[in-house]
Amino acid sequence: MNVKEIFETMEYGPAPEAAAPGLAWIQERTPFNLFINNQWVKPASGQYIDSINPATGKRLAQVAAATSADVDAAVAAARVAFETWGKTPGHIRTRYIYAIARHIQKHARLLAVLESLDNGKPIRETRDIDIPLVARHFYYHAGWAQLMESELPGYQPVGVVGQIIPWNFPLLMLAWKIAPALAMGNTVVLKPARYTSLTALKFAEIVQEIGLPPGVVNILTGEASQVGEALVGHPGINKIAFTGSTDVGRSIRRATAGSGKKLSLELGGKSPFIVFDDADLDSVVEGVVDAIWFNQGQVCCAGSRLLVQENIADRLIEKLRERMEHLRIGDPLDKAVDIGAIVSPGQLKEIQRLVNTGVEEGAVMWQPSWACPTEGYFFPPTLFTNVSPATTIAQVEIFGPVLVSMTFRTPAEAVELANNTRYGLAASVWSENINLALDVAPKLKAGTVWINCTNLFDATSGFGGYRESGFGREGGKEGLYEYVRPKWETLEAPAKEFHIAEESTSTNGSRPAVSADEDREFEGGEQLLDGYTPMFPAIDRTPKMFIGGKQTRPDSGYSRDVYDPQGQVIGQVGEGNRKDIRNAVEAAHAAGGWAAGTTHNRARSYADAAAEVQAAISRLFSYAAWADKYEGAVHRPPLRGVALAIPEAIGVIGMACPEEHPLLGFVSLVAPAIAMGNTIVVIPSQVAPLSATDCYQVLETSDLPAGVVNIVTGDRDLLSQVLAEHDDVDAMWYFGPAEGCKRVELASAGNMKRTWVSYGHPRDWMDTVQGEGEEFLREATQVKNIWVPYGE
Ligand code: NDP
Repeated sequence: MNVKEIFETMEYGPAPEAAAPGLAWIQERTPFNLFINNQWVKPASGQYIDSINPATGKRLAQVAAATSADVDAAVAAARVAFETWGKTPGHIRTRYIYAIARHIQKHARLLAVLESLDNGKPIRETRDIDIPLVARHFYYHAGWAQLMESELPGYQPVGVVGQIIPWNFPLLMLAWKIAPALAMGNTVVLKPARYTSLTALKFAEIVQEIGLPPGVVNILTGEASQVGEALVGHPGINKIAFTGSTDVGRSIRRATAGSGKKLSLELGGKSPFIVFDDADLDSVVEGVVDAIWFNQGQVCCAGSRLLVQENIADRLIEKLRERMEHLRIGDPLDKAVDIGAIVSPGQLKEIQRLVNTGVEEGAVMWQPSWACPTEGYFFPPTLFTNVSPATTIAQVEIFGPVLVSMTFRTPAEAVELANNTRYGLAASVWSENINLALDVAPKLKAGTVWINCTNLFDATSGFGGYRESGFGREGGKEGLYEYVRPKWETLEAPAKEFHIAEESTSTNGSRPAVSADEDREFEGGEQLLDGYTPMFPAIDRTPKMFIGGKQTRPDSGYSRDVYDPQGQVIGQVGEGNRKDIRNAVEAAHAAGGWAAGTTHNRARSYADAAAEVQAAISRLFSYAAWADKYEGAVHRPPLRGVALAIPEAIGVIGMACPEEHPLLGFVSLVAPAIAMGNTIVVIPSQVAPLSATDCYQVLETSDLPAGVVNIVTGDRDLLSQVLAEHDDVDAMWYFGPAEGCKRVELASAGNMKRTWVSYGHPRDWMDTVQGEGEEFLREATQVKNIWVPYGE
C-alpha cells in the first residue's frame, strides 16, 4: 500500500502489545495449582484442565481441576482465618486492601495482557477499563474497611463467603466480590470461570506478595460441576455471591434455599438502549458501539435492544451501518482493534444459533462487508431490524455482538417496550431534553440507568438487577450490606424457633363463617400471647379479608377459629386460598401508582393511621417519619457527571408476619413496606390474626388508596407458598420457622423474586434495634443508579 492509498483509506497499521511478558509468566508456572491458605497446592484429583487462547484456539496453560476435597480444604482454611480476620481492626484491614490496590497497579500491564490472552478481549479495554477499575474497587473498599465501625455500627461480617464468577470480566468480577468481602471482615473461597482463571491466579500471587494472612483469600480453579456446586452446598459457607447466567442463578437459589446462607445474584440482562428523536445521533452511534460491541457484547448489561423513535430510525440505522463497516476486529493484543474474540467455541456456536433463529423468525440481519479472522473464535458485529418484540432475539440474552432494533412513537411506548423483558439490569436513555430523560429513567425497571452514556461503572455506584437479573448490589455503600449481618444475629443454628402449636388453630369447615352482622365484642386488655398486651380496650371483630380497599369474604367460604392461650375460641377469620391471594396480588398491582406519589403524601397517610393504632403508635410514626426521609445519595464517580442513587419501591411485596407479636409484627412489616411505596399482600399471624384484621378500619379511614394493603388470613405456609410462586409478586418476606423459610426461598426461584426470611432466627420485635429501622427500609427498597454526565 502506498502513501496515497493509505491517505485515502486511513487504514490503521497494526499496533501490537507484546505478548511475551504474559506468555513467559505463564510458561514459568503452568500447570497452575490451587491457592489454599496462601500455599500452592496440587489438586486432590491430580487433574488439570486446558485454558485456551480464544484468539488462536491454542492452549495457553493448564490449571488445576479442583474437586470437593479441595473445596473442603479451602473452606477449612477460610474458617480458621475468619476467626482472626473477622476481628482484625478495620484500620489493619484497610492497610492490606490498600496494598492490594497498589500491587494491582504495579502489575497492571501484565494483568491486562493476561486478561486479553485468556479472554480474547481487546487490550484497549483490559488496559484502560478492566484493570483500572479493579484497582479502583480495592482503593474504594479499603476506605470502607476503615469506616466500617463508625458507618455500619450495628453490623458484623457474615463469615466465610463462597464466590463464583463468570468469564466476561474475570479480574473485575473478582474485585467486585473480594474487595467488599475483605473490607467487611469476611474470608473468601473464590472460583473463577473455567475459561478464564489466569488473572485470578496472578491475583493470588499478589495476595502472597502483600502478606495477607493465610486463608483469607483462597482460589480454586476447575469445573462448575466439581467446584461450583460443592461450594454452593458446603455447610461451612455463610454466603454465596454469584455472577453468571440466570439459569445457574436460579439453580443456586434452589440449592441454598433454607440453608441460611446469604445470597446475592448478578444475572443476565437484555438492556434497552432508548433513543429519542432529539438525541445527538453521532453521540448515539458511539454510544451503541460502547453498548453492544464493548467486550464483544459479552456484557450482562449490554445495550442489546436498540429502541428508536420511529421518525429517526432510518437515519440512525444508516449511520450505524456506516460505523459498523469501520469497526476493526482481530488480534485482541492489537491496540487498534475494537472487537476481539468470543471466549469459547461453545459461546460462538450459541451466538450463531440465536442469529439463525432471528433470521428464521423474519427479522432482517445486517453484517459489515469485511470478513472475520479465520483462526480463533470471532463473530462479526450484527444488526437486526424489523424485529418484533415477542421474538426470541428480542427476549433472549444473546451474549454476543448482536444488536436488535425496534421502534416506538411516544415516550410511554418506549417505556413499555423497554420494560417488556423478564430482566432488569440496566438501561440507557438518549435525549437532549433532560426533563424527558429524567422523567423516563425512574419508570424503567432496571438497577442502573445511564443518561446519554452507557456501560459506565464505578466503585461508588452500586450495580445490580431487578427481576430476573438477580438481587443484591455490588459497589457503593449498598453493596456492603451483602457482606454483613446484624450484630444481634448469631452464627449458630437458631436456639429457639417459634412454632405454631397444632392445637391453636383449626379449619372449621362444618361451621358457617361469622357474618359481618354478627360482629362480636370481646373483653380487651388481657394477654393474648406471652409478653404482649394489646392496647385496645376492646376488639371489634370483623372476620373478613381486606383486598383492594374492601373487606371481602374468603373465597373458600370457610373460617378458622382463633383461640386465646386458654384454648377459648375468641373469634374467626376467613380461611384464605389461592383465589384470595390472586385477587390480592391483582389489587396490589393495580395500586402501583402508590410508589409514584409524593413521599409527603405517604407520610401523611401514615400519620393519620398512627393516630388510630394505639398499640404500635411509635413504630407507625417512625415509618411515617421515614417516608420522606429515606433518601439516596449523589455519587461523584470520576467523570464529569453524577450518579443519583435512588432507593425505589420494589413493587408488590408478599409477607407472612411473625407469630410472636401479632399486631406489632404486622405493623413492623407493613409500615416500612408501604412507607417506601410498595403495595403489599400480607398474611397476619396465624395464631392471633384479629389485631391485624382490626386495622381495616384504620386503613379505610387513613387515605390509603385501595389495594395498597391487602390482608389475607388463613394458613400461613399454604398462602406463603402461593405468594412465593406468584409471578406478579416481586419480593417475599417470611418470618416463621426454618422449614417455611426454605419453602419460600425454593418457590421464589421461579421469577427470582427477592426474599427476606428469618431463617428461624428469633427476633425481639419489641426492641427498636431488631424490630425497626434501616434494615427494614433497605429490604423494602432497591437502589437505582441514574448516571447523568454533564458538560457540552
Ligand atoms: P454460567 O452461569 O454457567 O457460569 C458462571 C460461573 O458459574 C462460572 O464460574 C461457572 O463455572 C459457574 N457455574 C456454572 N454452573 C454452576 C453450578 N451449577 N453451580 C455453581 N457454579 C456454577 O455461565 P456460562 O459461562 O455457561 O455462560 C452461559 C451464558 O450465561 C452466557 O451465554 C450468558 O448468556 C450468561 N452469562 C451471563 C453473565 C453475566 O454477567 N450476567 C456472565 C457469563 C455468562 P464454569 O466456568 O466452570 O462453568
